Amino acid sequence: MPPRSRTKGAVVLAVANQKGGVAKTTTVASLGAAFAELGKRVLLVDLDPQACLTFSLGVDPESVEASMHDVLTGAAEFGDILLECADGVDLAPSSIELAGTEAVLLARPGREFILAGLFADHAADYDIILLDCSPSLGVLTLGALTAASGLIIPMPCEMLGHRGVGQLLDTVRDVKKLLNKKLKIIGVLPTMYDGRSAHQQEVLADVGQRYGLPVLAPPIPRTVRFAEAPAVGRSILETARRSKGAAAYRAVAKEILART
Ligand code: ADP
Ligand code: MG
Repeated sequence: MPPRSRTKGAVVLAVANQKGGVAKTTTVASLGAAFAELGKRVLLVDLDPQACLTFSLGVDPESVEASMHDVLTGAAEFGDILLECADGVDLAPSSIELAGTEAVLLARPGREFILAGLFADHAADYDIILLDCSPSLGVLTLGALTAASGLIIPMPCEMLGHRGVGQLLDTVRDVKKLLNKKLKIIGVLPTMYDGRSAHQQEVLADVGQRYGLPVLAPPIPRTVRFAEAPAVGRSILETARRSKGAAAYRAVAKEILART
């Protein structure tokens, strides 16, 4: 094997939308597995106190020794909390304690840059670092947007018509101005797509224009397979390898690589 390049650092991508239930966590787990299948060294970072990503990768958030909370409050080293998971990815786990982290960070100057510093220190160990954000635009999400070079915005097709991304785009504009000039919106990722719905077809055709944003393709189809996967601690790419949902995430992963 040729020696790994030490000069090229990991690409850090945030998956964010301040709405809950839009498939952020599903997207992080599925894209992570897809990038790993493509031979990439992948780190997934759970930044949601609900710890759904941690759980869905087969790790019990209540029994992790140390989580992102401990790292962000200075009680643990980032490298020491990372766990190897079944889908061929590493995980920086969350725990319920992360709900109290923002309050601690509010007193810390430069708090938005802490995550960026952590990932820079480990950039040589990974090709891709994916950040699973909580459904808020709080300190941790701002930190994620400050650390990332790219943003993916998952959005269910039935919500695409509601112009719901305005607040997020305002935040992205502020982050670019004040915290992170290199942040680029990679695209909106239409999720939970029902191709039988004429309305969703129309909305999907019009979404790029509506938001003035790139749209990742193909849309992720709505399928019950996604609900089944987390219970066994694997992503849909493992539990339903040949499903349409898994194929869609593999295709989106390739498109993201082409754009970054
Ligand atoms: P978020 O992280 O944005 O809150 P999740 O990824 O946890 O969203 O997804 C919310 C719920 O929707 C979960 O129960 C998940 O299994 C389900 N889900 C996600 N993507 C799909 C899909 N393409 N089809 C059907 N259900 C989905
Ligand atoms: Mg989530």
